[in-house]
Amino acid sequence: MELAGEEHEQGGGRASGYPPGERHDRGGVHVLRAPPTPRSTPHAQPDNPSTPMTPAPQPDTAALTDAAAPQEELNPFVIAQEQFNTAVQYLPDLETGLIEFLIRPERIITVEFPIKMSDGTYQNFVGHRVLHNRVRGPGKGGIRYHPDVSADEVRALSAWMTWKCAVVDVPFGGAKGGVECDPSKLTEDDLRRITRRFIAQLGDNIGPYVDIPAPDVNTNARTMAWIYDTYDMMHPGRNNLPVVTGKPLDMGGSLGRPEATGRGCLFACQQALRRGLVEGLDSVAGARVVVQGFGNVGANAARLFEEAGATVIALSDISGGVYNPDGVDVQAALALRDATGFIEGLAGTEPISNEDLLALECDILVPAALENQIRADNAERVRARFIVEGANGPTTPAADRILFGRGIPVLPDILANAGGVTVSYFEWVQNNENEQWEEEVVNAKLLRKMNRATDAVIDTQHRINGDLERIQQLRSERGLNGRELPPVDLRTAAYVLAIRRVADVALQRGIWP
Ligand code: NAD
Repeated sequence: MELAGEEHEQGGGRASGYPPGERHDRGGVHVLRAPPTPRSTPHAQPDNPSTPMTPAPQPDTAALTDAAAPQEELNPFVIAQEQFNTAVQYLPDLETGLIEFLIRPERIITVEFPIKMSDGTYQNFVGHRVLHNRVRGPGKGGIRYHPDVSADEVRALSAWMTWKCAVVDVPFGGAKGGVECDPSKLTEDDLRRITRRFIAQLGDNIGPYVDIPAPDVNTNARTMAWIYDTYDMMHPGRNNLPVVTGKPLDMGGSLGRPEATGRGCLFACQQALRRGLVEGLDSVAGARVVVQGFGNVGANAARLFEEAGATVIALSDISGGVYNPDGVDVQAALALRDATGFIEGLAGTEPISNEDLLALECDILVPAALENQIRADNAERVRARFIVEGANGPTTPAADRILFGRGIPVLPDILANAGGVTVSYFEWVQNNENEQWEEEVVNAKLLRKMNRATDAVIDTQHRINGDLERIQQLRSERGLNGRELPPVDLRTAAYVLAIRRVADVALQRGIWP
């Protein structure tokens, strides 16, 4: 495992020790190890429709070509499992029990708490924190505030973090958290109280060597400062800075962290183009780029792609999209967003709907908003030559199949947006060492990580697709279904790489006891 900065080893923890299926209440904290069964649809777990939590160890490959089903599953947790189950078909040597361990989250915590609001009323909020896997190191993952947050969404996002950390080779496991709330209707005081109470209720289920939060949708450096302060109040007298990353610069944040996810998207995209992933497009310079979402990831990606010589022709945020075929002024969009909160009405642009934006003819499309944006019902309309996933889960499995069939490569989230967790890891290392690295050092280390990870994913895809017959034969020898395995896309290749890395460490460590 490659470590940044000075080479120092740090171990992950053991499993929580709770027997499967048991529920433990600790003063308002509910710890659940066997989560409820998510809703199942014709798309979900075709070999195993009744118990989607149990992995279909080697599912029917017919599912891979079934893109025309009328109803598409949009539950991110079911989607994450489908992606996993597709990938494990290409790892026929993995034991079923190990597969089951890798797909299941280690710990799910749901807390409910009251807040006295700024207007004097009392409201109850629900928050979740899921630790998916910590074989390769402590849990790592953002906390989001959004009305659509649910246990299933957080479970999916935590699994994606496990695979992302493995793809980019940082010594963390996967975790994620969220509070069901609408920040647009909350004051800063409300948000601070929600954050403090949520973190207080999580107690020692987060910690610098246990599970380390970071920013995500609708949370930022200010939120991370509150998280740090709350945790520090509860654990005085020691260096608590590494408990959370994405902090403000003058309290242990890393230079380069705010831009890291967008910068990582650019680095991965550049390396993939250098590797010839898109015929006739070998550089970002001169490319026409569309970015959906103008928050931390989208705005930084747009700015950095523009700085790298691309022409950004469309942008969007929750207020809608703005389009100019000759190029949108990204700096002006940033200024407008900073002044008004939104990019609606940006001078020199025409409005464009979200659906039309995704269907614009362009070289590179960067979905950087939320999940399930490119689906079975609109993937045929996509006219981008290359998709770079800034957001988590923007493309559904059915859309993946359509895009793969159409020859449009998708640089998957667990690679393309891994720059954020990579620099979070750098921040954590700096906090442990009481150091602050120069921004150039951070960016140079990020570049190396992103290039290596991109190469590893592309190489894995080539290796699998050049070796399908042998994999098929191994499957037959192990008595697994003998139907023809289709070639893999980049997402499945990234999963195979990540699952292999996590499984190898699990086996090296040995299952305790
Ligand atoms: P953010 O809250 O900073 O920004 C989200 C943006 O999306 C906002 O501009 C919002 O207006 C826009 N948006 C919301 N709904 C939209 C819609 N329907 N159409 C168009 N735009 C819409 O969040 P973020 O941190 O930029 O995260 C965005 C995505 O990137 C999420 O999927 C997140 O999980 C993922 N991600 C974030 C990071 C990080 O470091 N922040 C790292 C990896 C992945």
